Amino acid sequence: MNQNWHGILIRHMVLLLGTCLLLGLFTGHYGLCLAIGLALYLAYTLKQLLRLHLWLRDQKPDQAPPEGVGLWGDVFDSIYTLQRRDQRVRARLQAVIDRIQESTAALRDAVVMLDSDGNLEWWNPAAQLLLGLKTPQDSGQPVTNLVRHPRFKEYFAHGNYADPLEIPSPVNDKVRLQLLITRYGNNEHLLLVRDMTRLHQLEQMRKDFIANVSHELRTPLTVITGYLETLLDNGDDLPTRWQRPLQQMQTQGERMQTLLNDLLLLAKLEATDYPSESHPVAIDHLLRTIKGDARALSGTRNQTITLEADPTLHLKGSEPELRSAFSNLVFNAVKYTPDGGQIHVRWWHDAQGAHLSVQDSGIGIEAKHIPRLTERFYRVDSSRSSNTGGTGLGLAIVKHVLLRHRGRLEISSVPNRGSTFTCHFPQQQIATQLEAYSPEEG
Ligand code: ADP
Repeated sequence: MNQNWHGILIRHMVLLLGTCLLLGLFTGHYGLCLAIGLALYLAYTLKQLLRLHLWLRDQKPDQAPPEGVGLWGDVFDSIYTLQRRDQRVRARLQAVIDRIQESTAALRDAVVMLDSDGNLEWWNPAAQLLLGLKTPQDSGQPVTNLVRHPRFKEYFAHGNYADPLEIPSPVNDKVRLQLLITRYGNNEHLLLVRDMTRLHQLEQMRKDFIANVSHELRTPLTVITGYLETLLDNGDDLPTRWQRPLQQMQTQGERMQTLLNDLLLLAKLEATDYPSESHPVAIDHLLRTIKGDARALSGTRNQTITLEADPTLHLKGSEPELRSAFSNLVFNAVKYTPDGGQIHVRWWHDAQGAHLSVQDSGIGIEAKHIPRLTERFYRVDSSRSSNTGGTGLGLAIVKHVLLRHRGRLEISSVPNRGSTFTCHFPQQQIATQLEAYSPEEG
């Protein structure tokens, strides 16, 4: 109530009481006059209230308020002004919403708004095209009922949306989609979906090209190294000046064969998301054989190789792939640790899952190289690596094998002190005792 209203109210009361008193003076019935005066005032007030109620109830857009005098005129005008202001704000907001909806409707990427439980709230037309969402039937449905790919279910449940996910479209499996979830507001989710088919095809062409070239090169190389071997087997008949070049050709030929094998293995690993076979693998046994091979590789270099492995801990996955990954890590430790150094391999589990660490007291790696080590052909020091006979693909293979086993690689290293390569596997990847000793396992 504003200042004026106080004055007007006091004036009204004074006028009413004054009139009643004056009438009482003439008639001599003060009480009656006062009662009649108040009753009339009450009736007037009720009438105005009724007019206000009828106006508010049956109001049409832009309909002017009822005419009123004094206080009631003020009340009507104030409500009308507030209503107009509210309408203007609403129109502005509606215009903003319309523009946002128009722009998201024009987007070629799908935008889907989900509530905190993952139920669909709103989506743009591109989401109907890419994900096959139907308006309005699918509103309120859990997103995992509509995008049923197992990897999406896993990704959504995991709750870690730092990296996008690539899956085939539920509508057409030739279309490849990239999905990215962002959390906003009150734990609601915003799902962005992009058509990656073209990029995926290019990537596929690159993989196929490498796989085909490696495959095609293998046969001529086998013939060349075969002849070289035969020639060197009869080395005594050869002129001495040919012996060294032929030996070098054989070494380089073997290097090329290892390289092609690694390239083919990488191509195979990239072809599918998860290993086709997923049997319980006895990692302690696997590590014991790798340790034997590592000793052979170490030869007379006097390195101490120790192994500490939980024999009851089995991992679901592919034995050859895991063997390839773990042996790459252990052989690297042997290659990059000076004579007399220590290498410790440990296989254990805790609440987070299963872990394999390979720790060495070797040359170590500078921090700036660590994020790039798993890139193909990335080497810290290419001259040293070619001396050790490495292909530069070892850690890329490790990374892919781990991805296919839902694992991840952690690298920590101090130059000149040593490195630790740790593979972390989630709980779901650990084989239970029942699986581990299932009849198929034999
Ligand atoms: P390479 O065949 O050259 O060993 P990798 O992919 O296995 O290729 O390793 C990439 C690079 O990482 C190596 O060239 C080497 O510089 C570095 N590296 C790998 N393992 C170790 C280690 N245990 N200690 C020090 N450096 C390492």
